Amino acid sequence: MSRRLLAVSVSAAAVVLHAGPAVTALPPVRRHLPALNGAGRPGTVALTLDDGPDPRSTPHFLRSLARLGIPATFFVLGGMAARSPGLLRRIHEEGHEIGVHGWTHRSHLRMSPGRVHGELARTAELILGACGAPPRWFRPPYGVLSAGSLVAAARLGLRPVLWSAWGRDWEAGATTATVLAHLRAGGIRGGATLLLHDSDCAAVPGSWGSALGALTSIVGDGERQGLRFARMSDHLRWGERRPGVPDAGPPPGTAAKVTSADRG
Ligand SMILES: [Zn+2]
Repeated sequence: MSRRLLAVSVSAAAVVLHAGPAVTALPPVRRHLPALNGAGRPGTVALTLDDGPDPRSTPHFLRSLARLGIPATFFVLGGMAARSPGLLRRIHEEGHEIGVHGWTHRSHLRMSPGRVHGELARTAELILGACGAPPRWFRPPYGVLSAGSLVAAARLGLRPVLWSAWGRDWEAGATTATVLAHLRAGGIRGGATLLLHDSDCAAVPGSWGSALGALTSIVGDGERQGLRFARMSDHLRWGERRPGVPDAGPPPGTAAKVTSADRG
């Protein structure tokens, strides 16, 4: 972790310690910590999907993303991935990036620092086994970072990232229209990181359908602005910030596929 990133992590930890629970999920905090809210290149948008991989729903998202020709970043739960290792590999092989969400979906505020570290390490190891490269990104359940989360992420070489706009697709009564309205209110614009879920394992049963239904319109919004959808490492210029770290993206064949399908 660079000195700059470390400084961001330390200041974020200070905010968490002094401002109380769930603070990092609040929009004002995310706006003032640009490294956390996923503010990326002005010409790209990052679509992120949390809580999978889920054999009931994730394949629908993969088919839709392939049809639309865009890459996404999946923040996976180790406990889900362990039950569907083939699906985890498929996400990688189809050109998407995979980040760490946790092993369980418990809030880090309710776990000891040792338990948090163990969960993140175990999930990162699973991703390494499936992708052949370690994950780079970490997003905690509920977007809630504890001081223990930040220490564990730093030790594991994971960079915390939240989002700039969400669809609130996990809510009871969410529809494609409400998901789109929430995302547009937060901003489907250059530099944005969008949050949706490809599993309902921590939400209202069936809620992923509203997120899936919104994908085509989200991509349409981006295309009208001449934006390109990018994996998190491309969106946040990981290579430029960490020149010594080799690209741990998708296999060469799929990388070419995604590049040629990118819009804008
Ligand atoms: Zn989640």
